[in-house]
Amino acid sequence: MKRIYKLNGCLQHYVWGGEDYLPDLLGIEKQPNQHYAEWWLGAHSSAPSMLEINDTQQPLNAFLAQNPTALGDESRAVFGTELPYLLKILDVKQPLSIQLHPTKQQAEQGFARENAEGIDLKDSKRTYKDNNHKPEMMIALSDFWLLHGFKAKADILADLQARPSLHTLAEKLQTQDPHAFYADIMQADQAQLSAWLMPIVEANQVRYKNQQLSLNNPDYWVLYTLDAMQISAEKLDAGLICFYLFNIVNIKEGKGIYQDAGIPHAYLRGQNIELMACSDNVVRGGLTPKYVDIPELLKIIDCREIVPEIIPSAENRKIFTYPTPAKDFALTHIQYEPAESAQLHAANAEILLVMDGELKISTNSTALCLKQGESAFICADTDYRIEGARQGYAVIARLP
Ligand SMILES: [Zn+2]
Repeated sequence: MKRIYKLNGCLQHYVWGGEDYLPDLLGIEKQPNQHYAEWWLGAHSSAPSMLEINDTQQPLNAFLAQNPTALGDESRAVFGTELPYLLKILDVKQPLSIQLHPTKQQAEQGFARENAEGIDLKDSKRTYKDNNHKPEMMIALSDFWLLHGFKAKADILADLQARPSLHTLAEKLQTQDPHAFYADIMQADQAQLSAWLMPIVEANQVRYKNQQLSLNNPDYWVLYTLDAMQISAEKLDAGLICFYLFNIVNIKEGKGIYQDAGIPHAYLRGQNIELMACSDNVVRGGLTPKYVDIPELLKIIDCREIVPEIIPSAENRKIFTYPTPAKDFALTHIQYEPAESAQLHAANAEILLVMDGELKISTNSTALCLKQGESAFICADTDYRIEGARQGYAVIARLP
């Protein structure tokens, strides 16, 4: 068995994706009217990456089943026979659903319960697709906007009180606890949503069209989301109210954020690198035509006030691992110049993705040249060397 293999990822063409960013990054031909939402690097069985072995291609999950030692002892002891993480590049052109992810224990219980209830894994009303938690970290590749956690109650009240149609909500929040308050909003009917939102939409239409609304103003994002997702006035989504409840966060290129279990979040616009535990457990809370499991959402949502913690950027550091609390994954940023080299060691399986420039990755017996958009799978227990060929940087997904 070799220690390093070229790895080819999988594209996901979800309709919220943009048309240009991923084809340009990956150097692939654009198809007309095609959406390029996500690029996946990992062993997830629904879209495993392909290893180049001699002149053939083998799915990474099949390779790992045949060669479990490639995962590493520590990885196997904690995470079993699966690669614990999934690395993605996202191009968010339209807002994604408001969502949150369960804890490991909630996922185990939810998965067992839905199995016992006989809900098929492919059923649209299935919430738990596996028994794993799904912490996520992301690093922005452009100016990035997202919703992240409930903001301070005083800030929510100020936003609600500043808008006549939301005064009744401000009064409710003063008497209700945040969880009951949020539950009522999520169960509001169309007439109620319309009474809250349409006066705001009508009052801001002209300012929105003339680009006079600040991006920190929730009204901007309500109008933007109606426009981008083509939501009609008759089919308002309770998730739209969340722009007044959650932190609207702007992440500058190179910086990031971590989504812990229970924290509601929604990606609004931009491109990023995302690294997450290998799971598909998403509990949705609006801005989606997909199934919204309100009882489950209310059971696991964390309604505490959150102050977003921004992950710092690598700046001028040659090798930098982004600090996060995650136990299932870590992301390392490595910068290189021509002829500059670094000696590294993979204790457990790693995935390297060249984001810019060109590098050579080598062991005593193998060498690969990788350019922007190309990646490699590195087996556990491997000493390897990275040498810059053209200035740039790569990211390495691995265990902490
Ligand atoms: Zn998420």
